Amino acid sequence: MPITGIYGPDDLTNRPHGQALKQGTSEVITSPRAVPVPGPALPMPSLEWTDDVERATAPLYERVKHVIPPIEWPLMAPTIHAINELKRERGAVILAHNYQAPEIFHCVADIGGDSLQLAVEATKVKAGIIVQCGVHFMAETSKLLNPEKTVLIPDSRAGCSLAASITGADVRLLREKFPGVPVVAYVNTSAEVKAEVDICCTSSNAVQVVESLNAPTVIFLPDRYLATYVASKTDVKIIAWKGACEVHERFKGEELRAYREADPSVQIIAHPECPPDVLAEADFTGSTAHMINWVRNKRPRRLVMITECSMADNVRAELPDVEMLRPCNLCPHMKRITLANILQSLLTRGEEVTIDPALAMRARRSVERMINLKN
Ligand code: SF4
Repeated sequence: MPITGIYGPDDLTNRPHGQALKQGTSEVITSPRAVPVPGPALPMPSLEWTDDVERATAPLYERVKHVIPPIEWPLMAPTIHAINELKRERGAVILAHNYQAPEIFHCVADIGGDSLQLAVEATKVKAGIIVQCGVHFMAETSKLLNPEKTVLIPDSRAGCSLAASITGADVRLLREKFPGVPVVAYVNTSAEVKAEVDICCTSSNAVQVVESLNAPTVIFLPDRYLATYVASKTDVKIIAWKGACEVHERFKGEELRAYREADPSVQIIAHPECPPDVLAEADFTGSTAHMINWVRNKRPRRLVMITECSMADNVRAELPDVEMLRPCNLCPHMKRITLANILQSLLTRGEEVTIDPALAMRARRSVERMINLKN
């Protein structure tokens, strides 16, 4: 059914003046910011392209040779080698989202995946230091689930237009407006917002989470398009928020029709953060993890993958026989994470994500409630 209502900062009349946030900014809405950790920094290792580096990184190049030209490898390999040595020395583990560039996702990450996979894997990590290659809300989620561990993000300015679209105060005002209606937050929200909601969800489990509440109406925030998609899959009435992902919102149904007219055999798969006219053209809609599984199982000859472009590179590195046609939208926030600042983060133990313990306890409940849902 269509969503029942859609609200934004301007619809909450008692929202304190000056709190309205611009969509699509890189502002990170979270009280505790990541801070550089004072302490002994390790010396910068040599970043020369040597025979030893070439030998040590040859198996890694095998993984990415279809997406990184040979001429670029000698420029990246020394930093990749230094990161891999240093993470062993530091007792660190690197988590990377599917939208990270192939040289990060395939060459330095210990665990890669979508938000749900990273959230779950974060709970199993034994290492004392987690380096989160993704955006700030992901690092916060890792910290929520690993309060005793040091969680580092190589660039704390890596925000998200969805997380920036709503504050904890907005959630409280929505609760006042709709008393008794449970609130589901997409994981793409700050810890401050997670602390105010009943349960979190990802794009992999959003419908299941909404239905798990056994309520006739649910407030679903902050992504209006994911809310619309969920509403189309359930009889639960959905009240949405006016947030959007600045990357997926830019895709257009007409560009997909043009791909299909050029080659009627092409397969199109899309992420549910896309607008409805895009999803209407897709052969399959799913989270990043579901999209990857779909490609592994179907092995289409030609594929249009409607999501952030690095994911198409990461899939192509694994499945070079699939030809990717890419209307390419990069996430500027994800691209703030680079090999250079991952290395710097390991050398200086910066920037550490900290969350007020009382707020973290409430936010953790919402994430754990999602993780503990039975499949
Ligand atoms: S791709 Fe969209 S949802 Fe993901 S981090 Fe970037 S802005 Fe946020």
